Amino acid sequence: MACLFCRIVSGEIPAKVVHETGRTLAFRDINPKTPVHVLVIPRDHHEDVAALAAADPALAAEVLQAAADVAVAEGVAESGYRLLFNTGPDSGQEVFHVHAHVLGGRPLGALTGA
Ligand code: 5GP
Ligand code: ZN
Repeated sequence: MACLFCRIVSGEIPAKVVHETGRTLAFRDINPKTPVHVLVIPRDHHEDVAALAAADPALAAEVLQAAADVAVAEGVAESGYRLLFNTGPDSGQEVFHVHAHVLGGRPLGALTGA
């Protein structure tokens, strides 16, 4: 069976899409941790950011550009935001289709201890 985010790409599972390009999709996290919490993914399936960067560096760059565009659209480009790619067991990665978390809308504090 296709992975959860592949099913969002195909439209099988609905999502609140905020930005899209030919090769990327950005949608609101179902359980937002911050006032702005958007996930940016490539439409193609890659397990994590390391796999994406190795297989298709141009697409990795498109994901970063899309994340920057989302930050502008969500109004946090000036106030600041955090891009986060959980990768592997110690990170707590739950969905193994690479996604950038775009987090912002309030001071985010230190990185550790989440
Ligand atoms: P991870 O822990 O893998 O970095 O993050 C996965 C994220 O996907 C979590 O923040 C979780 O809330 C979000 N998520 C899980 N299932 C769904 C879903 O069906 N729709 C949306 N929009 N987000 C989801
Ligand atoms: Zn997938």
